[in-house]
Amino acid sequence: MTDAGTASTIRAEAPGRVNLIGDHTDYMGGLVLPMAVQMGTAITATRGGGRIELTSARVPGLLSVPLPVQDPATVEPSWGRYVAGVAAVLGATEGLVGTVESDLPLGSGLSSSAALEVATALALGDDGSPLEVARRCQMAEQRATGVPCGIMDQLASTAGVRGHALLIDCATMEITPVPVPDRASVWVVHSGQERRLVGSAYADRRAECERAAAVVGPLPSAALERIDELDDPVARARARHVRTECDRVQDFAAALSAGDLATAGALMVASHRSLRDDFQVSTDGLDRLVEELCALDGVHGARLTGAGFGGCVVALADPGVELRGWQVHAADGARVVDVDD
Ligand code: ADP
Ligand code: MG
Repeated sequence: MTDAGTASTIRAEAPGRVNLIGDHTDYMGGLVLPMAVQMGTAITATRGGGRIELTSARVPGLLSVPLPVQDPATVEPSWGRYVAGVAAVLGATEGLVGTVESDLPLGSGLSSSAALEVATALALGDDGSPLEVARRCQMAEQRATGVPCGIMDQLASTAGVRGHALLIDCATMEITPVPVPDRASVWVVHSGQERRLVGSAYADRRAECERAAAVVGPLPSAALERIDELDDPVARARARHVRTECDRVQDFAAALSAGDLATAGALMVASHRSLRDDFQVSTDGLDRLVEELCALDGVHGARLTGAGFGGCVVALADPGVELRGWQVHAADGARVVDVDD
């Protein structure tokens, strides 16, 4: 509890996430299997006043916005749009003064944007359920960037369970934690390519999927024969990705639970090919990296992770394998830590 008139210091911590399998399915009501990771973003701040004033150790520029925020998409510095988006969605009128720290790579597919949003929501006092906070942060990202993103990143950050990946049904919002076996090590390797064109290409892909769904119904459960009959070749390929990816997520969750890393790895490779060929969100650099990693002893599979167009690959390996990247562990979701002055 905060005593009236006493400024309280708060620390809100939110993890990034890696998506093991199930990309470009969340916004079509499909299945995803991300896990929150041990790397994340923290906001340490004093609550009160009518503005948000934050500095980030990672990006230059003081963010200073008066509350309430009307139009987060025009805020400068631009990294502050994610923060302002959350303030706008929450209708925040009580501000924050403090700092943002993060050990996540930014703009690489580990959802530093969702971690920043979720940390902001908690720092501003959002005490909703993990799903409620995630929904508000998803809306904030959409308002901040104009990208019609799904809910996976924010929900993985709020609902993470240590030692587990999260099987999320984005139609029902049911979350089933799936234990990650001790014998599985998960690595994230950067392709060296900055992500490009993600915003407009993302919106295009989503519109193409919606075109297909208008004919065949919800893609995760549509009959493959009906998808194959779609006249529009682009909508057909996008729909085939979503439909087959949802099957792969389910099979992957079963394989992971059974400790069958060979099958899980093969499903990751199949997912990558589908994202490359049917969804067309891969790059030559990502394709080469997946091939190189899969050729290594002790690597069961690899695939691009996140929206694509550059950024990172996730690989599933035996313990003891060392890759040039980040070894990630499944972590708990976001939380608030009270700090005594
Ligand atoms: P990802 O979420 O995969 O890291 P995005 O492009 O969605 O990639 O989000 C990255 C953007 O989020 C950064 O360019 C920056 O604007 C903002 N951001 C994330 N974390 C921080 C941080 N700690 N400090 C400042 N800005 C951040
Ligand atoms: Mg992001």
